[in-house]
Amino acid sequence: MNRIGVVGIGIMGGGIAASLLRKGFPVSVWNRSPEKCAPLVEAGAVLAPDPASLAAESDVIISVLRDDQVVREVVLEQMLPHAKPGTTLIDMSTVTPGMSRNLAQKAQLRGCHFLDAPVMGSKEAAENGQLTILVGGPAETLEAQRDVLNAMGQKIVHVGPNGSSAFLKLGCNQFVAGIIASVGEGLALAKKGGVDRQTAVDVFMGTMARVAVLKHSKIAERDWATHFALDLMFKDLVQAQQAADEAHVTMPILSAVTDTFERVRRQGIGELDFSVVADPEGASV
Ligand code: NAP
Repeated sequence: MNRIGVVGIGIMGGGIAASLLRKGFPVSVWNRSPEKCAPLVEAGAVLAPDPASLAAESDVIISVLRDDQVVREVVLEQMLPHAKPGTTLIDMSTVTPGMSRNLAQKAQLRGCHFLDAPVMGSKEAAENGQLTILVGGPAETLEAQRDVLNAMGQKIVHVGPNGSSAFLKLGCNQFVAGIIASVGEGLALAKKGGVDRQTAVDVFMGTMARVAVLKHSKIAERDWATHFALDLMFKDLVQAQQAADEAHVTMPILSAVTDTFERVRRQGIGELDFSVVADPEGASV
């Protein structure tokens, strides 16, 4: 069985390495703060003394590091020059598309294979091998590593060439972050109105889940048949802004969203479903 070297034993890397061990892979690990490797070593992992040794002894290198800069310092500068030709590198860190393409290029020059593979899911999914893994890179490299990917994830999505997965991952995180920040604005407004916090959280989260289901196929199929008109949603955004002004609540996200809705309305499509705002190419009907 191929030896897997996991570098970056943080929240996600720790869970990923534990999943691989549970599935019976021989695993070596390295982390800047070595104490985080102790539970994995107890479970059978080998602790490498440095990134270069980890690279030299691994058939597959999995990196789960903080950002571009750390991936550059650790993987590109300290590991790749010591990797055996034929080694496969799988970078599961969330990095920029440029970083992924750079890694792919440098890996190829070394005679290695490379997949960019950022993940959806958090601590628990990493620990339970239930991540969704977004893979960029050649299909044959993905197929060659499918058993390794299956040990870490319940869903493997081949997104496209190297770097493409970062666009999907970053696109996803921008809206997740936007939703959460928006929930904060909504809670601030509800609080000013004397609404019980738990009630507001339950209604907001329930609505978020329902919208995800109700608008999924409409957005996927660009079906803008009206269930709730853009004009009416715009009216509510303006009313929310009025309520915020009266209650002295600052809502910068509401303000930006209102501007976006106003811009789309000006195309003369205010009678369509408000989900048309999610269409970057404009209304198709
Ligand atoms: P984390 O717990 O902070 O782990 C970051 C890892 O990077 C640690 O191993 C850390 O080492 C290492 N690192 C940071 N700076 C370093 C440096 N200068 N030199 C060497 N190593 C360094 O973060 P995480 O949540 O596991 O996230 C890892 C990656 O997965 C990130 O790109 C993140 O965006 C992505 N991600 C996270 C989640 C999530 O829910 N947590 C979900 C999806 C994707 P030390 O232990 O020594 O600090």
